[in-house]
Formats: sequence, C-alpha cells, structure tokens
Amino acid sequence: MKADVIIPCGGSGSRTGLSYNKLFADLGGVKVIEKTLSAFCRDDVAKIILPCSEKDEKQFEEISLNFDKNIVIVRGGATRGESVKNALTFCDAEFVAIHDGARPFVSQSVVDRAFQTAESCGAAVACIPVTDSVRKKEKDGSVAVDRSDYYSVQTPQVFKTEEIKRAYALAEKDGFTATDDATVYEKYVGKVAISEGDPSNKKITTAADLSAFVPEDFRVGAGWDTHALAEGRKLILGGVEIPHTKGLVGHSDADVLVHAVMDAVLGALGRRDIGKLFPDTDPAYKGADSMKLLERVISLMNEDGCRLNNLSAVIMAQKPRLSPHIPAMAANLAKAFATDVSRINVAATTTEKLGMVGREEGISAICYCSLVRKNG
Ligand code: MG
Repeated sequence: MKADVIIPCGGSGSRTGLSYNKLFADLGGVKVIEKTLSAFCRDDVAKIILPCSEKDEKQFEEISLNFDKNIVIVRGGATRGESVKNALTFCDAEFVAIHDGARPFVSQSVVDRAFQTAESCGAAVACIPVTDSVRKKEKDGSVAVDRSDYYSVQTPQVFKTEEIKRAYALAEKDGFTATDDATVYEKYVGKVAISEGDPSNKKITTAADLSAFVPEDFRVGAGWDTHALAEGRKLILGGVEIPHTKGLVGHSDADVLVHAVMDAVLGALGRRDIGKLFPDTDPAYKGADSMKLLERVISLMNEDGCRLNNLSAVIMAQKPRLSPHIPAMAANLAKAFATDVSRINVAATTTEKLGMVGREEGISAICYCSLVRKNG
C-alpha cells in the first residue's frame, strides 16, 4: 500500500506551559516533531503533510529539510478538524494516515498494524485496552461498567483517502465536529476497525508529560588537590577542624578535601576549576572558609539545573588518623548539598610512607562526583 500522512501541527504550548508550540520542545537533542516525523519516513509513505499556523511555518520548513522524505507544509485551520480537512486536499495516495504531532513515541509495529488493518478492513484506528476500572456517571452517583468493552483511542488512524475526504466534506456541511478522525469517518462512511496500539504511544499534553519524557543528562566530574603541611596552621578537612601538630598551607583555609569536591562539581558542570572561580591572587579569598566557597559552587550547580547524584572522595594522609572524623566530614558535605549522607562517601588512606604524603609533607584528596540534569 501507499499512504500519505497528515500530522496536525497546530497547537500552542499553553497546556505544557511553553511560550511556543510544544512540537518544538526538546526531548534530549531531538525535537518532538522530529521524532514523530522519523516514525513516518518509511517506504510505504508517499508524502507527509504538516498543517500548521502561519507563525510556525518557517520553523517546520527548516526542520523538514533534514528529512529524506517529501514533506509539505500547509496552512492549518482554526481547529484540528479544519486543519485535517485542508491537509486532505493535498493527499492523493490510496490511503491517508492521520497522526498526532505530539505522539513522538509511536513504534514501527504500531504503524505497521494500523496500515495492515486499514488495507484489509478499509479503516483503522490504533487503540489500547483500558487498564483502569471504568465507571459511568449517573444522576445519583455512578455505576461500574465492564472495561473489556472499552478502548483508549490513539493515532495513527488510517483511512481510504477518498472516503475520509468525503466524510470531512459532509461534516463541514453539517457543522459536525469531533475530537478525532475516526468519529467523523464513522458518522458519514462506516465502521472503523481497531488495530493494536501501544501504551508507550503516549500523547504529550501537559508540562508533567513533557518533563517525564525528557531524558536525564548524566554528568561525571573529577577533582584533585594537594596542600603542604606546616606547623602553626589549623588542619581543616571537610569543614572539620582536626587536632594535629601541623595544618595545611594555602591562601584559603586549605581544606584539600573540599577543594577536590568543588573541582569535581565544577568539572561535571563544564565550568573548569576553582582556580578560575576563586583566584588565589584575590585578597577576598585570603583565609576563606572553603565550606562557604562550596556553597557558591553548589549555587552554580543549582543554577545549571543539576543535582548531585553521588560523590566519592579519598583523602591521602600519613598522619593523623582520620577515620574518627570521617562521619562529621560526610555529614558537612551532605548538609551543604542538601542531600542524604548515603550519597556522600569520604574515605581515607595512607600512602605507606611513600612519596610526599608518606613523608608527611602534605595531604592530597581526590574526588569523583556524578550529577544529573534534566534536559530541555
Ligand atoms: Mg587547593
């Protein structure tokens, strides 16, 4: 069979809270309409017709150039029905499939089944069984109905082109409107067979729908720092002052653990490092409390729409013994990130007296973190 496909692209972003057509919304590197169009770039599709509003025409035209398929952009009407009727005048294949632009997750098997059913029965509508219990409203309450008699209606809906054209012409004469094309067909032409849809063939309607479909962007960052030990300085690690004969030397309080944590977070954000953010030539950071600097880094993380997934840090120190202080460091970091302490791991190791750490000349820390960001 050969079919033309109509994808009504009218719509606004009002129910998704967008200031633009929701079909241009980003689903993690691909727009809603691009994903929908991809599903119909098949050999049995002759051309795709996109009825849309005047203000969106240019953008749909630009998008259509990226597809190896004849895509025709036409002017839509005031209602979905009018848009479909206008688009039908451009259809000349034996069949026409009508599909919601906001159902980008339609699978090839759903399309296959709708096309096959239309070929054998004349008209097909993709449906899924209702899985919730169903009740019918009555004057004085409600009554349970047998849900096995009911289906939820999806798209594509596929018809013989001449028949659906006739149905829409008669509907226009009568002023009859419906929420889908199968209803118009049924009123003026005849029965519509059900083809098996798929629960994943969901329609994006609300802001919550859109955000549920947007994939998460997973990011990893690494941080590493070393400071020298000297007498007459406080030893502060993870915001905890640890009793010791020496402390770490630096422009700030030299909290080597927090510095590694900040660099890991900045790395995951693609914001380079703390040297760039808090230059040690700036007197503002002399003796600075690194936990306060971490707050600034966490603000940037929040501004970038990211949240901490987890963080794993290792402190390398020959002395003093750090294990009694580790729970307090982890708790400080968890509090700063406003997260559960189970997402923060701080470990400590000696270097078996090897190297500068082993000679107690300095302390190093390394940190890896993962962040999650919602795309779009
Ligand atoms: Mg440092």
